[in-house]
Amino acid sequence: MAGNTRRRDVQTQDDGPSTDDIDRFSGVTTSCPSCGTEIHDDVDLCWKCGHAIGDPADQRSPVWIFITIALVLGAMLFWATRF
Ligand SMILES: [Zn+2]
Repeated sequence: MAGNTRRRDVQTQDDGPSTDDIDRFSGVTTSCPSCGTEIHDDVDLCWKCGHAIGDPADQRSPVWIFITIALVLGAMLFWATRF
């Protein structure tokens, strides 16, 4: 009996975008909040770890960083000028 086992070459580590793709879409990539892998901004899941992207509760806008810094600096100035 002829063994008709069809061997599929399992390509590991070939699921993600190539470096060329990342370069081509530079500017629309973001880092996975879970594993830090560079992924496209319009994907729903991280291709590496499967972390769900786009969860509003999990996104931290850089604007909040500036607001926080401004508030801290303002509080420090306010505190410093009291004395
Ligand atoms: Zn990930």
